[in-house]
Amino acid sequence: MPLKVLFAAHTDRWAEYEAPLNAAFEEAELKVDLARDHVPEVVDYIVYAPNGDLQDFSPFKSTKAVLSLWAGVESIVGNETLTQPLTRMVDSGLERGMVEWVTGHVLRHHLGIDQDVLGQNGAWRPHVPPLACERPVTILGLGELGKACGLALAQLGFPVIGWSRSEKKIQGINCIFGEENLATALQSASIIVLLLPLTSNTENLMNADRLAQLPKGAVVINPGRGQLVNDDALLQSLDSGHLSHATLDVFRIEPLPSEHPFWAHPKVTVTPHIASETRPTTAAKVIADNITRGEAGEPFLFLVNRKLGY
Ligand code: NDP
Repeated sequence: MPLKVLFAAHTDRWAEYEAPLNAAFEEAELKVDLARDHVPEVVDYIVYAPNGDLQDFSPFKSTKAVLSLWAGVESIVGNETLTQPLTRMVDSGLERGMVEWVTGHVLRHHLGIDQDVLGQNGAWRPHVPPLACERPVTILGLGELGKACGLALAQLGFPVIGWSRSEKKIQGINCIFGEENLATALQSASIIVLLLPLTSNTENLMNADRLAQLPKGAVVINPGRGQLVNDDALLQSLDSGHLSHATLDVFRIEPLPSEHPFWAHPKVTVTPHIASETRPTTAAKVIADNITRGEAGEPFLFLVNRKLGY
């Protein structure tokens, strides 16, 4: 009997994922019946994304795991009907996309690229940027994405501090951890990149007090989640001249409403939650790998810790 795998992401995504998933199952020698309409009672695995309709997991009595296509799981982790193991997406394509987006936006601010590409008016205004080694960058969140971004920035010569919940050792990154060391991470950041998951412990982490601990002129780059930052405090800090710019990819409400002050603010760059996306071909292999593990009775990779919320 083939395994019944339910595809429970937005229906728009089916066309992108159907072929890569079936190819990955075949390559892994898994016999799978992949569909969008299996009845819950027969489903072995659910390939899930929060943009689909599935909310109630209670009828999925024999489902062995819910495999999220998204890295961020804040919208499902507290779902009380979800009693099955939940895995999150760790995908090499997603990681490379985030490294490119973060590096690009860090370099924009570091090099002062806007001064060269915007408003050329015949005035010769030399501005030589410092070298990367003179521009400390802090990354809050040293998980799959934060670590990869930190290593890429370190490779370019930026002194990188990475902050996490638990202790880490990563060559090239000055790793610090725990709330007691957050002030150190903030105080030395010319540019700060937020790559934390949204949990009860990280919500509003960047409030007025914490923003004030950043050095004057610092830049905030947030591809993590909108709720990590207090919007009003951020706007005040930009308006007072304390922060010089914020580049934001994620927001409390998405799409960001057209009347939101971020859109018109001269010191805010809005990007429409495009920092990175799960890539179907690489992600399909991760899903197939986890199903293989489940069938072999091995522990799933990238299991979400429901207590920690990520
Ligand atoms: P991981 O779970 O791999 O890493 C999370 C990191 O945050 C870990 O280092 C963890 O610490 C740290 N962390 C969590 N809670 C705390 C805390 N209370 N204090 C200090 N550190 C904490 O996640 P990923 O790197 O895969 O993804 C990070 C986030 O990026 C996602 O949750 C999602 O919100 C966002 N994202 C955004 C995308 C976009 O397009 N904008 C695309 C994909 C993801 P520890 O290592 O000690 O556990």
